[in-house]
Amino acid sequence: MRARDLLHPRPEGLYCPPGDFYIDPVRPVGRALITHGHSDHARSGHAHVLATRQTLDIMALRYGEDFAGTTQTAVIGEIIDIGGVKVSFHPAGHVLGSAQIAVEHGGVRIVASGDYKRRADPTCASFETIQCDVFITEATFGLPVFRHPDAGHEVEKLMKSAQQFPERAHLVGAYALGKAQRVMRLLRDNGYDRPIYIHGALVKLSDYYQNQGIALGELLPATVDRSGKENFAGAIVVGPPSAFADRWARRFPDPVSAFASGWMRIRQRAKQRGVELPLIISDHSDWDELTETITETGASEVWVTHGREEALVRWCELQGIAARPLHLVGYEDEGD
Ligand SMILES: [Zn+2]
Repeated sequence: MRARDLLHPRPEGLYCPPGDFYIDPVRPVGRALITHGHSDHARSGHAHVLATRQTLDIMALRYGEDFAGTTQTAVIGEIIDIGGVKVSFHPAGHVLGSAQIAVEHGGVRIVASGDYKRRADPTCASFETIQCDVFITEATFGLPVFRHPDAGHEVEKLMKSAQQFPERAHLVGAYALGKAQRVMRLLRDNGYDRPIYIHGALVKLSDYYQNQGIALGELLPATVDRSGKENFAGAIVVGPPSAFADRWARRFPDPVSAFASGWMRIRQRAKQRGVELPLIISDHSDWDELTETITETGASEVWVTHGREEALVRWCELQGIAARPLHLVGYEDEGD
């Protein structure tokens, strides 16, 4: 069997004809296999969804219990037969519940990795390398300029700033699923033991992380009322990036604006967003991790999904690995 007969792009997403299923479809389909809960990969309205328990829970939290017709839990490492195609889920290290999906049929094994990272992250299971013939990789940070610094060190910068400016609130923009909880956990691991204030949009997911055994310490609502701004002086407040354009953000005392994202490597981006304290913390692989992972999988062919495809395709070709971009549309890096 040729790899492209096992999986190939369609407008709805990556399609497997022998198994009649899609991986991370961007439009409603009959049978969807979902790598993780970020909104660009996990959409509501599919007739049947197969995903890890945590991804299914996260989808229910975000979209409501009726997000799909029926659901099936994929147990990590267990093989599921779908129309003669062997499917298995393996940790991707991206956010809680995230998985790579291995698809095997007719002597060909393809791994669709979804979004992934290799750095240690106590908020989710670590990435596991799966040997395969074809490795499908993202390329969000697929340029040699992207080399993520140590995330713990970035959080230290935040704690230092909070110490240095005890009269100012520190507002940290972080994506609601994964990044926000990782930032909070990094603060705890660095010894920050004061309450962390969170925007209402983070409550359900942060509670879910805590229920899953990921300790985030004391989280309090970042509700600003008429009673006075000074309550948040010196506090660390975490909210989704979208909240920072709202009146919500303007009610804090002389806030220091921080943003946790791999894009904060680019000074211009930080400036454009009015970010005073950029924190380079990414839930994606950097250039070295992308290329090391490709090598480790032993794949003879690489398909590149969303991001900066060209440089990674070129790198593969220089290594003698066949590579091509898939030009999938609809993936917006919710959790960069
Ligand atoms: Zn993601």
